[in-house]
Amino acid sequence: MELNYDFHLHSCLSPCGDNDMTPYNLVNMAKIMGLDVIALTDHNTCLNCPAAIKAGEEAGILVIPGMELCTDEEVHVVCLFPHLENALEFSAYVRERIPPVENREKIFGEQLIMDEKDNILGKENLLLTTAADVSLDKVPELIKGFGGVAFPAHIDRSSYSVISNLGMIDEYMGFTTAEITKDANLNDYIKRFPVLEKMNILTSSDAHYLENIGSAGGKINVVEQEIDKILSILSKSC
Ligand SMILES: [Zn+2]
Ligand SMILES: [Zn+2]
Repeated sequence: MELNYDFHLHSCLSPCGDNDMTPYNLVNMAKIMGLDVIALTDHNTCLNCPAAIKAGEEAGILVIPGMELCTDEEVHVVCLFPHLENALEFSAYVRERIPPVENREKIFGEQLIMDEKDNILGKENLLLTTAADVSLDKVPELIKGFGGVAFPAHIDRSSYSVISNLGMIDEYMGFTTAEITKDANLNDYIKRFPVLEKMNILTSSDAHYLENIGSAGGKINVVEQEIDKILSILSKSC
């Protein structure tokens, strides 16, 4: 079956995510946009995934718990997990490895932890957009150890991407999937970095506002609409 997906979304817990991006709102907007499966991938945290998964169960849309990790090299990597427990365990692991810098709400924005009914449960006080003390070359195996799959985010962007920061992507990095923005010319990137031809290429919205959810139009073929089936595809080269 073909599923409409969006595997890169930020909630109001990301300082740069709009406060209207509550777990309830983003899940229901994804439903309105005709998506079958989404992943919530806040910067360096998974703490709004419990609410998004519950909201997803109520709305009838599959929600994959995830994170957009910022590595030591300031490369953004999307990490997806099979179960909430894996995601929360990894979230705690990352929190211990980000700098002890307090969030300054007036400058960076609030970092709201919410339940599935739009109630505020608390705030994350550490700034989530800093680089974690996790190096990129360790990420594929590290995430595998938490049961999940990791792939470099928005590889064509001029900042926070593997190509912008390291100048390249190759097979020795150990990734089987990569995310590219929908307007990028994939063929040009394949010519420059042939490894991309053997990788699963995803396009997601990286939405920080409700109106951007589902705007990348990604579709994936899977045998069943289940998280482990999706992660299994992403963890293998083409
Ligand atoms: Zn990013
Ligand atoms: Zn993002």
